[in-house]
Amino acid sequence: MSQFCQIEYVSSDSDIGMPCGKTAVAKCADCGAAICSDCCVECCGDSFCELCYDYHVTHSCVRKPVQTDQRTQDRTEAA
Ligand SMILES: [Zn+2]
Ligand SMILES: [Zn+2]
Ligand SMILES: [Zn+2]
Repeated sequence: MSQFCQIEYVSSDSDIGMPCGKTAVAKCADCGAAICSDCCVECCGDSFCELCYDYHVTHSCVRKPVQTDQRTQDRTEAA
């Protein structure tokens, strides 16, 4: 397993991807790339790289929108 982040950034100025290269702290649950804390996005208990996170959220995320404010549900039904 790679010790360094494998995520590459492509700048608009260049066709060449710049590897992130930071110390990897996790592995993408989808593509398996080593990812650093900056590139790591956690969702549904897994860690994803940014690309896979986008895909995950669009296609397979089961997470519901977080509603911590329950008062919205306690609103009086009588109008
Ligand atoms: Zn990935
Ligand atoms: Zn990184
Ligand atoms: Zn998710």
